[in-house]
Amino acid sequence: MSLSKKKTNGDDADRDLYSGLIRLHVLHHADQEPIFGLGMIEELARHGYRISPGSLYPLLRGLEKKGYLRSSEKRNGKSLRRLYRITPLGRKALDASRHKVRELFHELIEGDEPG
Ligand SMILES: [Zn+2]
Repeated sequence: MSLSKKKTNGDDADRDLYSGLIRLHVLHHADQEPIFGLGMIEELARHGYRISPGSLYPLLRGLEKKGYLRSSEKRNGKSLRRLYRITPLGRKALDASRHKVRELFHELIEGDEPG
């Protein structure tokens, strides 16, 4: 791929592919309890997603801008930590995607045809 100036190690493509899953993952956990950036990075790593703070924080801010998350600052010892909670709108989006994920799951994992 010498014509391409982009890195060709596949990370960019993977990020495209997985970014929606990562967002759903974030919404899911924000629905369970307030989340914060570093904790979410560790949680995602547990699932095999490597995401840097430089990628996750814009993603969190994007979800907040969409109205799916709401954040507030909480003091944690000497440092401030930004906590994110899901909003009613975010919960609605999560519910809608749950349906779509179930359908995708059936196709990908169980090999069912749609309909
Ligand atoms: Zn998880």
